[in-house]
Amino acid sequence: MSKRISILGSTGSIGVNALKVASHLKDDLEIVYLSANRNAELLIQQAEEFKPEAVCIVEEASFPNVQNALVGSDIEILLGREGLLELASRNNVDILLNGLVGAPGMEPTLIAIEAGINVALSNKESLVMAGDIIQHAMDKSGAKLFPVDSEHSAIWQCLVGENIDDVRRLILTGSGGPFRTRDINSFDTITVEEALNHPNWDMGRKITIDSATMMNKGLEVIEAYWLFGFTPDRINIVVHPQSIIHSMIELRDGAIKAQMGVPDMKVPIQYALTYPRHLEAPWEQLDFLKCGDLTFEEPDFQRFPCIKLAFDSLEKLGTSGAALNLSNDYSVYRFLNGEIKFTDIPRINESSMAKHDWTEHPTLEDLKELDSWIKNHVESY
Ligand code: MG
Repeated sequence: MSKRISILGSTGSIGVNALKVASHLKDDLEIVYLSANRNAELLIQQAEEFKPEAVCIVEEASFPNVQNALVGSDIEILLGREGLLELASRNNVDILLNGLVGAPGMEPTLIAIEAGINVALSNKESLVMAGDIIQHAMDKSGAKLFPVDSEHSAIWQCLVGENIDDVRRLILTGSGGPFRTRDINSFDTITVEEALNHPNWDMGRKITIDSATMMNKGLEVIEAYWLFGFTPDRINIVVHPQSIIHSMIELRDGAIKAQMGVPDMKVPIQYALTYPRHLEAPWEQLDFLKCGDLTFEEPDFQRFPCIKLAFDSLEKLGTSGAALNLSNDYSVYRFLNGEIKFTDIPRINESSMAKHDWTEHPTLEDLKELDSWIKNHVESY
């Protein structure tokens, strides 16, 4: 029996790859809902190919295009942020894949979990912002999170069959991004083009900048904390420039399990959608004889202060993760617009964490207020 799948963010990098998975697994996965922010043209193309029951376009200006193109089909069209949240709550699906970018992806995760839907989570910001709230909602509804982030998918796969008490620590690998070996004194002059040029992974713009600052790895530490329940002292980062080992677990007896493969997001996406099965896939396989040396280095907290901020946020918990994440969303946006320097990103994030009005158990409302405070704070920098 095929699984019914809802995809939020279907025209983004994760969504597009998920649909590649769906098109080769036509008998196993049925695409039921699709949502896009503003790329009407691609959403229409996807709707025509996969014939979902409903689509949502968030940006109002793109609505007429979608409507005109799908007139006469029996595809329902939802509109705006409201339509997106409505789609997230529809629980006649087996899995909702959340491929949304940044903080706006958090509420749809929560809504889906509350509706009892298992969420394949690419939007790590959901857990960084509201790990506590989502955890409670999961306990209540019984819905689960299936990691899509390659590192967390790797750990999830390594944990299969293990007793969690036997795991000493999680080892997250990271490529180190494009500036791993760049002279630290020239970080001030890093351009947007340089930062968007990732050596191994082909991803969206926001996450590519996060990889360049290594904020991404920091956010992944926080994500691992919430997904697997390991304290920060039991979550380590190892820089592994080739991105062949996607992450590891170390067991009490010293055994280490690693999950490996070519760096291709379709692999973790497919596993999240077909879990617990590893179904046939047509992508390139890892060739050990051609992949060259695998090397490992310690992460450089001085070069990449954003990693340290993430560990700090886990010491403080409460709103610290949300403040860090929101601040990072807005500062990366400003960097991409050419308004601030690369090195301003960690500076602004640190200031947002230190200066915001910290609370221990924020509600969704508190987080919305925090959002506008942080937005102002970052814009006034
Ligand atoms: Mg990742």
